[in-house]
Amino acid sequence: MKPFSYVVPKSLDEAKAAAAQPNTLIKGAGLDIVDRMKERLQTPATIVNLLPLKDELKGITVEADGGIRIGALTTLTEIENHEALQGAQFEGLVGAARTTGTPQVRNRGTIAGNILQFTRCWYVRSEAFHCLHGGRGPTCLAMTGQNRYHAVMGWSDCVRVHPSNLAPPLLTLDAEYTTVIGKETRRRKFAELFPEEPRAENPEHTLDDGEIVTAIHIPQQSKNARCTYAESREKQSFDWATTACAIRIVMAGGKITEASMVLGAVAPVPMPRPQAAAMLIGKEPSTKLFRRVAEKAFQGAAPLAHNAFKLPIGKAVVRDALEQATR
Ligand SMILES: Cc1cc2nc3c(=O)[nH]c(=O)nc-3n(C[C@H](O)[C@H](O)[C@H](O)COP(=O)(O)OP(=O)(O)OC[C@H]3O[C@@H](n4cnc5c(N)ncnc54)[C@H](O)[C@@H]3O)c2cc1C
Repeated sequence: MKPFSYVVPKSLDEAKAAAAQPNTLIKGAGLDIVDRMKERLQTPATIVNLLPLKDELKGITVEADGGIRIGALTTLTEIENHEALQGAQFEGLVGAARTTGTPQVRNRGTIAGNILQFTRCWYVRSEAFHCLHGGRGPTCLAMTGQNRYHAVMGWSDCVRVHPSNLAPPLLTLDAEYTTVIGKETRRRKFAELFPEEPRAENPEHTLDDGEIVTAIHIPQQSKNARCTYAESREKQSFDWATTACAIRIVMAGGKITEASMVLGAVAPVPMPRPQAAAMLIGKEPSTKLFRRVAEKAFQGAAPLAHNAFKLPIGKAVVRDALEQATR
């Protein structure tokens, strides 16, 4: 590891000032960035540790308009257990947190760190490989190499996948996020956190250098809404998902009146599937319908040499999320 300065800010203003310096890395619990620094994939001059700012950046609160604010430093364990998130409306978010990593990872890992984590592609995460996304080579090595865990849709010149469990349910819940940078506070739709057409040159997210996420906001959910999450993985232990699906559904009179669907672990960004979700509107839940919707969710998928298994498994995961949501 190269030497670096370590900033322990006493206030958000101090953190913002330090984050504005060139080649500075913002740190939550550090689970992802320390890994990357040990591999010498990132060699920051300065690290700004946000953890001392618990009062401003941690915790879950119900806001005056009925929405929920989750501070950026809130751990996945806190999301799993908080009473404000125990309803069917948040089942998918809580389920996604609960299936992340191990208890140790969930006790330390923060929501901001989870949604901003770097891809797990083994080529970019090892400095030995001359990978395009890492800025170390001319092509995406996974495209023609070992690509079992890589993208089956939404890719152009790089087939990494977005690894976050929490991003798909947050997208279905129409969440927003707040950031601070310099004198500015920005509040944007969660979908804007990810590049629209992700290319190798794009980072995993659209934040500017030095921009600090302070909170995630979930708008008030209707009483008969339900959000669910399902995923596949190779082992029960701390594996990342091989495919994942979050669904949000509202039902009235036995029929589905609102639906949104986002796939995870299949593309360089979390993948909204609006056309598949639209097929549910006005319909009564049925196995036949769910089969058609799952087919639609993977329509146009372009698997690589070693990951076509993601299609049948991913469709089963979509059906599982739909069955949970309409049970
Ligand atoms: C063994 C293991 C298994 C795992 N399994 C899964 C899994 O199954 N599913 C899954 O989704 N994840 C999984 N993870 C990933 C884990 O959830 C994340 O690494 C963790 O949540 C990151 O949180 P952190 O606070 O440590 O982030 P950090 O490592 O501190 O930061 C991660 C990134 O986010 C940026 N960042 C952090 N906070 C902010 C902020 N407030 N503002 C701006 N930028 C910020 C950092 O600069 C960095 O780029 C696993 C991790 C491990 C070690």
